[in-house]
Amino acid sequence: MEARKISDDIIAAISTPIGTGGIGIVRMSGTGSLSLLKKIFKCNCNDFQSHHIYYGSIVDETENIIDEVLVNIMLAPKSYTREDVIEINCHGGLLCVQQILQLILNSGARLAEPGEFTKRAYLNGRLDLLQAEAVIDVINSKTNLSKQVAVNQLNGSLSNKINECLQMILDIIARIEAAIDYPDEYEIFDVSQEILNVSEKIKKLLDSADVGKIIHDGINIAIVGKPNVGKSSLLNNLAQKDSAIVTDIPGTTRDIICEYINIDGISAKILDTAGIHSTENVVENLGIEKAKLCAQNADIILLLFDWSREFDNDDKNLLSFYNSEKILFVVNKIDLPQKFFAPDNLQLIKISAKKNFGLDDLRKNIKKIVFGKNIFDKSNEVFVCNVRHKTALKNSYDSLMRALKTISDDLSIDLTVIDLRDAYDFLGEIIGQSVSDKITDEIFSKFCVGK
Ligand code: GDP
Repeated sequence: MEARKISDDIIAAISTPIGTGGIGIVRMSGTGSLSLLKKIFKCNCNDFQSHHIYYGSIVDETENIIDEVLVNIMLAPKSYTREDVIEINCHGGLLCVQQILQLILNSGARLAEPGEFTKRAYLNGRLDLLQAEAVIDVINSKTNLSKQVAVNQLNGSLSNKINECLQMILDIIARIEAAIDYPDEYEIFDVSQEILNVSEKIKKLLDSADVGKIIHDGINIAIVGKPNVGKSSLLNNLAQKDSAIVTDIPGTTRDIICEYINIDGISAKILDTAGIHSTENVVENLGIEKAKLCAQNADIILLLFDWSREFDNDDKNLLSFYNSEKILFVVNKIDLPQKFFAPDNLQLIKISAKKNFGLDDLRKNIKKIVFGKNIFDKSNEVFVCNVRHKTALKNSYDSLMRALKTISDDLSIDLTVIDLRDAYDFLGEIIGQSVSDKITDEIFSKFCVGK
């Protein structure tokens, strides 16, 4: 990629998590990093070469040894930022990294902003914006699948598809403009089929966005039901740990408790809510309101009933609250004698959270809702996972549809070109070709310092 801006100051930051650990890394990037290093690093070598590791000590102005270290030198342009990058591997823990960073800052560098190393990699043309965004997704991914999708994006799988579409649109524009500018040499012809071809490719990417969002963000599953049906027991069973307090005293869970589980590569946040029933208790009612809101916002609701108690008014009210495709009706405690008889047509999943019965069936049904009718092909390496990308793709697709309409309405070919240019610009936003500094800053502000 082409470079955009050249930054000339040296940035520095601690790149490893703060806390006790074997090794800590302090990183700097920018022209002059090597000269700065020479002021604070003592070793048996004077001639430093790129992509070599040097053993020695970091020393302060009075030659006091701060730490024994290994230093990686990666000179421009073969580095993460395409600038001179130095990484100092010191002992982990709070003090060594902080003292070394302070020494570097005192020697002329400035503290890096969040994501500034990656931002420089982007501004210096090493990564496009899509790939830079993938870096944060790799760091934040919670499941193998979301990490794999992010790694593919980092390696350019989605960028390649976007670039292919950009090139196709550019070719159409070039052919039309050649015909407008040189009417004697080039004939104006119908480009509808070409526009359709590129719009189909964009549509395919757009179609992957729903599954992409699930892979990237995971899903929220709310467990709701009257008190004592086993909501907390179900959360604990699914999460395989005792997160929620389980008692036979109704009203124990008053706030929302959440745990993360992994369902076939999808990160699911399970929310245990207060038992919903009619009560005069003010505190309990606050919890119930929260539970109702939580269920409303959830992607999936597990509406839980109790096999050992009769279907009562509280159950009936719950059924009338929630009536949508995102509900699974689950009856718990089937290890106990049956007193529960569900209304007709209610498809029940039978489980015992305590005896660990029927949970696989429940997980299968959750997956069915998650992926719905989508044929979820994990081998597909390209998913659009980000709302910014989805919006830009949609805008680009709509512009192409408008371009097609100008042709079918027999309007001026100039109008078709305007729509095609819009389609090109929207698509270009995704990889950072035509994106404002404000959006770029916003993207990098989500990174951690040191990346
Ligand atoms: P919640 O109020 O809906 O969260 O219910 P809890 O999870 O706190 O459970 C209420 C009571 O039901 C506790 O005594 C649990 O041990 C019991 N319980 C939960 N699940 C089962 C089950 O599958 N079988 C039996 N026999 N008891 C259960």
